[in-house]
Amino acid sequence: VLGHVPAVVYMKDTEGRYLFINRRFEELFQAGNDAMAGKTDHALFPAALAESFRANDKRVLEARRPIEFEEIVDRNGAPLIYESLKFPLLDADGIPHAVCGVSSDVTLQRKNEEEMRLLRLSIWHADRVERTGAITSSLAHELNQPLAAILSNAQAGLRFLDREPPEANELHAILEDIVRDDKRASAVITGLRAMLKRQDTHRERIDLGRSVDEVVKLMHSEFLTRGVEIHCDLAADCRVRADKAQIQQVMLNLAMNAIEAMAEQPAGTRHLWLSVAAATEGKVKAAVRDAGVGIPPELLGKVFDGFFTTKSQGLGIGLAVCRSILESHGGRIWAENNEDRGATFYLTLPLAREVGGAGPKSA
Ligand code: ADP
Repeated sequence: VLGHVPAVVYMKDTEGRYLFINRRFEELFQAGNDAMAGKTDHALFPAALAESFRANDKRVLEARRPIEFEEIVDRNGAPLIYESLKFPLLDADGIPHAVCGVSSDVTLQRKNEEEMRLLRLSIWHADRVERTGAITSSLAHELNQPLAAILSNAQAGLRFLDREPPEANELHAILEDIVRDDKRASAVITGLRAMLKRQDTHRERIDLGRSVDEVVKLMHSEFLTRGVEIHCDLAADCRVRADKAQIQQVMLNLAMNAIEAMAEQPAGTRHLWLSVAAATEGKVKAAVRDAGVGIPPELLGKVFDGFFTTKSQGLGIGLAVCRSILESHGGRIWAENNEDRGATFYLTLPLAREVGGAGPKSA
């Protein structure tokens, strides 16, 4: 069996000397079982790598229980990623006398996962851009007409005022037209709001920390390429009744904004902290804290307004959407500047009640 499994299997004594390697090990690292006997990882691998293997082995020996590690081995210039399950062999007194390992090559699997993640992220991006783009262009189109009518009426009104004597009757009619067009414009906006609200939402009990963790995983390569170091403190079992996709969209928007706010900061100082914790009064509180440029104090109240943006390519819709999602969930979102550097966006959501079985669909 050991000769045929596709995994690398090995056993070392407590000093790290090889006692056994299987056939896959021999093939991969061109080492014979007999030749390896009594040698350590230093005989095969660069010193730093050998030491990291030894450190993992020692942890297993000290913990006296199986531990899983991710180990990366450079082979002909290409990194191979291994998932290694290491476990101690204990004698009758429970004292370890050897450490065994089964290492499976997950390089291809990781590559596929990474590709899937990138794909999902780009779809998410495209979706966001497309949806906000469609909303803005239809809004612009619908509002243009009443705005143009208001403008030409106001201009005509000014001309009538200039006449001697001013024509009060004409002015009256003009002002009535302006009021009508203004109402039309606001009806367009109300209609759009209603349409956005109608979008299907699916509420379920979700673990907020876990949902945020999924977003972090999804954005993994985004953080890497933008040189952002991520710190998570996500409490378990903070359950809320929510539309998971919408809440994840909020976290994605906030994280994206944070990354953008740190783009000009020197490398090595771009830190992002994500936290989820139970708060008082049956609420869950999440925070997205960055070390970016921060928000000028006079704009703190404006950033959630629709179409407010300070970016040349910005739409100014992200935070407005975040706020409407939070409010529709009975929650709240706000921003504060940090004492040292950057901004923190906080959000709260009501904790889901403990219900066994099927409850009402909407909370
Ligand atoms: P957009 O990103 O398209 O500008 P948003 O609604 O997401 O739209 O953000 C509105 C504005 O809020 C941004 O243009 C920026 O000025 C400000 N802002 C948002 N997040 C941050 C942040 N983390 N740090 C500093 N400013 C921010």
